Amino acid sequence: MCECLSRKLNPRRFTGNVAGRRDRLPNDLPDSTVPELPEVEAAARALTRAALGKTIAAVRAIHPALKRKLTPANSRRAKGKRIRSIDRRGKHQLLGLDSGDTLVVHFRMNGDWEIGTTNDQLDRFARAVIDLDDGTRISLVDRRALSSITLDKEGSSSLPKLGKEASDPTLDADYFVKVLARRKIPIKPALMDQSVLAGLGNIYAAEALWEGELDPKSPASQLSKEKLERLVAAIRLVLSPRRRRPGRYTDTRGRDRFAVYDREGEICRRCGGTIQRIVQAGRSTYFCPKCQLG
Ligand SMILES: [Zn+2]
Repeated sequence: MCECLSRKLNPRRFTGNVAGRRDRLPNDLPDSTVPELPEVEAAARALTRAALGKTIAAVRAIHPALKRKLTPANSRRAKGKRIRSIDRRGKHQLLGLDSGDTLVVHFRMNGDWEIGTTNDQLDRFARAVIDLDDGTRISLVDRRALSSITLDKEGSSSLPKLGKEASDPTLDADYFVKVLARRKIPIKPALMDQSVLAGLGNIYAAEALWEGELDPKSPASQLSKEKLERLVAAIRLVLSPRRRRPGRYTDTRGRDRFAVYDREGEICRRCGGTIQRIVQAGRSTYFCPKCQLG
C-alpha cells in the first residue's frame, strides 16, 4: 500500500473529532465532537512534533469565513518565518514565529489538524493550510468551518480574557473563592466561562461536578471552601493523564471515559441513581440528582 493511501485510510487527526451524534437540543451544537483542554493539548503536541522549528513555505485560508481572519496580507507576512514555539492557552493554540508575530488557532466546535505532505490531495473539509519547508502540510480541517486562524502582530493579542488554566498545578480553592465571589450564576456555566477557568467545556465541566459530588445548579458564589477544594481535586482527576485518552468520542471506549455526559436515563455508576439532563445557559447539563448534592 502506498504511503498516501495508508494516510487516507488512517488520517492523522488529533482531537478525536468526527461527525458526531447530535446533542439533543435542536439549536445546540453537538458537544460530543467539541475539543476541550485534553483534546486541544493533544492537537498542540502533534503540531509540535510536525512543525516546531520549521519554516512556513506558505500559509493560506481556503474558506471565506477563515479568509476574513487570515487575510492574504497576513498570509504573506507569515511566509518564510520560522515556527519557534507552539503553546496552548485555554482552547487556543499559539504558533510563535521568529518575526515576533503569532498565529492563533481555535478549533471551536469541530476543528482538527490533519498532518500530511504537500503531495497529498487536500481534504475536502480543509479550511486553511500551513505548508512547511520540508514538505509537511498541516491542514486545519473543520466540517462546519467555524474554526479560526488569525495572525497577531508582535506586541498585540487577539486572545480574550482567560482565567487560570484548568490544568495549572497552582489551581486551588482560594482562586475559585476570588473569581467566583460575584458570580450569581450556577457553578456549571461558571466553570465553562473561559474568563473564570480556561480549558473546560460542557463535557469536562459536567464530569468534574460529578466527580466532586457537586450540584451543577449551586450558585457559584455560594460554594464553601471545602466544596471548592473538592472541585479542584475533581478537575485534576478528570484532566489527569490516565483519563486522557483522546479517541473518538463515538467509540465505546471513548464514551466510557465519561460518567454522566450524554447518559440521560442511565444508572449512576456511583450511587445507582438515574442520570438527568437539564438545560443551563442553553446547554445540556448531565448530572446525578441523588449523589450530586453539594
Ligand atoms: Zn449518583
